[in-house]
Amino acid sequence: MGLTTMGKDGLQVESVALSDVAARFGTPCYVYSRAALTAAYGAYRDTLQAHGLSDRSLICYAVKANSNLAILNLFARLGAGFDIVSGGELARVLNAGGKAKKIVFSGVGKSRAEMRTALEAGIRCFNVESASELEQLSQVAGSVGHRAPVSLRVNPDVDAKTHPYISTGLKTAKFGVAFDEAFDLYRRAASLPHIAVKGIDCHIGSQLLDPTPAAEAADKVLALVDRLAAAGIALEHIDLGGGMGIQYRAGEPAPSAADYLAPMLAKLTGRREKLVFEPGRSLVGNAGLLLTRVEVLKPGAEKHFAVVDAAMNDLMRPALYDAWHDIQRVGADSTANPMSYEIVGPVCESGDFLGHDRELALNEGDLLAILSAGAYGMAMASNYNSRPRAAEVMIDGASMHQIRRREDVAELFALESILP
Ligand SMILES: *Cc1c(COP(=O)(O)O)cnc(C)c1O
Repeated sequence: MGLTTMGKDGLQVESVALSDVAARFGTPCYVYSRAALTAAYGAYRDTLQAHGLSDRSLICYAVKANSNLAILNLFARLGAGFDIVSGGELARVLNAGGKAKKIVFSGVGKSRAEMRTALEAGIRCFNVESASELEQLSQVAGSVGHRAPVSLRVNPDVDAKTHPYISTGLKTAKFGVAFDEAFDLYRRAASLPHIAVKGIDCHIGSQLLDPTPAAEAADKVLALVDRLAAAGIALEHIDLGGGMGIQYRAGEPAPSAADYLAPMLAKLTGRREKLVFEPGRSLVGNAGLLLTRVEVLKPGAEKHFAVVDAAMNDLMRPALYDAWHDIQRVGADSTANPMSYEIVGPVCESGDFLGHDRELALNEGDLLAILSAGAYGMAMASNYNSRPRAAEVMIDGASMHQIRRREDVAELFALESILP
């Protein structure tokens, strides 16, 4: 929301008309705004500053939301750290100029090879999610002569009240160490020679619109931190995860960073630990859109279809979570009559839709902007139906920079071979 304005050539991002982006780079195409990315990061940093916490907090961008090198590089330049979930993301961050000392490594299934690479790179912390992972990490660290910096990701058993696929903080989730078991596991961690206990971590889910569950989780985490300190295990940092929701639909009650963080930060004033946050969606979601062209209009007895050149392989959120994205015509005026359309892609699945029942005045060849697509858009894109993945473009004032070129079809099968 809020990324585009209407100019004389239709919708634009910063001062570049989207029709110019389409003419130069084709469609489908992801379009991001440097100014919007910078502003989203600034909202976190300013909130921490307003609470007097800027010199003891680190904003670790959750790479999985959008891992394009230009976006990682932009956040690295702004001073961000990174939250990674794989060796691949580690390589991306280091490649984009991120500092190993600012990387935290989350995820329930780190391989030994990933542990070794991250230890050798010298990352800030492993967010350990199970007793077995702790033992494996200890062995790997021993074998390469390192001490692994560790925090335990605890599962505080609070209901984040979001979509079940992106709710992670309930007892039934695969994520984190059960809250009741965390104290004993910390004692075990403190006894292991190749483990250095550094902190505690929790992340209860994504697209959270109400700050209360996160503040409740912080309460539980802080009580555990104090209990650990009384037992002689002093933690250096508290990582409260990501999850802040964004506005996908006008009128949806999405919080500002200031409003979302305030209840949590109120509990943290006067403490000595450093703070880590892991925002993903809220830093990139509303800084990107997916630009697509109407290929075919297909009127029907029950429904009218607008078949566009983007599909579920480009933006999976509608098919996966039944997510709602605002869809706007790029052109300023239309000769067509407004009608209710199903906006669908060319992929052979009935789940291949980008929007249901959208009132739009469309002609074939029109451009559409699918908004709020900066997070979990390109990052989840696939080559299903042998569709090359879209180009990505970053707008910076009046300039456009291609930050990923469109794949070509030969690249899609370049790694395959036929039998002799
Ligand atoms: C996905 C994830 C995040 C980011 O979540 P957002 O909702 O995108 O802010 C942060 N931390 C962990 C451990 C995650 O898995």
